[in-house]
This record gives sequence, structure tokens and C-alpha cells, in this order.
Amino acid sequence: MFKKIYIEITNVCNLNCKFCPETKRKKEFMTAQKFEEVIKKIHKHTKMVALHVKGEPLLHNELRTNF
Ligand code: SF4
Repeated sequence: MFKKIYIEITNVCNLNCKFCPETKRKKEFMTAQKFEEVIKKIHKHTKMVALHVKGEPLLHNELRTNF
């Protein structure tokens, strides 16, 4: 059992922290369908999920409209 699993629902960010390495990855937002697939795979392995690695999760439209 993991203490926490990180899911990067987007790599898009509206900040520019000095310590943050630049990424050349394509800017993306995870679909709700993909998120559900991931949650189904990991839910037995943790009780806590953090919605970021890089990126600002609150920029995700589907996250903002569902709260
Ligand atoms: S991804 Fe995180 S660390 Fe990087 S610029 Fe955005 S808020 Fe800062």
C-alpha cells in the first residue's frame, strides 16, 4: 500500500517557479475517461491521491466545473 499516489492531470501551469525545470512535453489535460481508468487501477493501492506532478491541476476545466 502506498501512502500517496500522484496523478498528473495536466502539465499546463500558469506559474513560473524558478526551481521548476522546463518541460518540452506537449501540453495536455487528462480526459475524465483516462482519469477514471487510472483510478480503477490504483484505488486498492492507496487512500490518497495528489493531482499534480508538474502543472496546475486547478486549470483543468473538468475539475473546476465539478466542484
Ligand atoms: S509546475 Fe509547479 S513548480 Fe512548476 S511552475 Fe508550475 S507551480 Fe511552479
